[in-house]
Amino acid sequence: MTQSPAPTIATTATTASAAPKAAPAPKSVLNESRQIERAVTLIKMGARMQVLESETTLSYERLIRLYKEITGKSPSKGQLPFSTDWFLTWQENIHSSLFLNIYEYLDKGASLDAIDALTKAYRLYLEQVQAGGIDPLLSFTRAWRLLKFVDASMLELTTCSKCKGRFVTEPYENAKHFVCGMCNPPARAGKSKLAGAIGLN
Ligand SMILES: [Zn+2]
Repeated sequence: MTQSPAPTIATTATTASAAPKAAPAPKSVLNESRQIERAVTLIKMGARMQVLESETTLSYERLIRLYKEITGKSPSKGQLPFSTDWFLTWQENIHSSLFLNIYEYLDKGASLDAIDALTKAYRLYLEQVQAGGIDPLLSFTRAWRLLKFVDASMLELTTCSKCKGRFVTEPYENAKHFVCGMCNPPARAGKSKLAGAIGLN
C-alpha cells in the first residue's frame, strides 16, 4: 500500500464511492475463489492495477502474480488519468457516452453487481464499436474511471437539446441549451461515420 499523502485518484475514488462499499467479507475459500475469478476477468479485460486493487480484496502481491501469469508481463506503473477532460473531448466523448448509456441501461434493468455491470457494459460497448468498424477509444480502465467520476457527480449524462441523445458532460445547472458534439462537431471533424455507426443519433 502506498503511504503517499498526495490526493491521488485512488483516494478520491474511494471517498466518492465509500457509501455502497460492502463490509469486509469473511475469509472463506469460496470468497477467495470468487475474488480470484473476478481479478482474472478484470485482467483479461485490460484492467490496470489500480482497478484490481479497488475492486478485489486480494493483496497487491497476489494481484501482481495473477497479472503476470495471465498477461505474461508486469503491470504498467503509470498513474491513472486525474481529470475529466479526456471524457469531454469530442471523439472520446462519443465513445464515453455510448458506454455510459449502455451501462445505465444494464444497471437499471438487471440487479447486477456493479463490477458485473461494468464488465458487461464494456463488452457490449466493444461489440458495438467493432461492428461499426471503429477502434474502441475507451479502454476498460477508462470506463471504470468514468463510473467513478459519475459516482462523484463530476460527470453525468445530459440530454442534447437537438438530437435528444444522452451525452457525458460536466454537471450543468441549466442543461436546456446543451448541444452535443455530434450535433455540433468541431469544424475539422465533419460528420464522421462514428455517429451513424454507434447510433447515438
Ligand atoms: Zn445532439
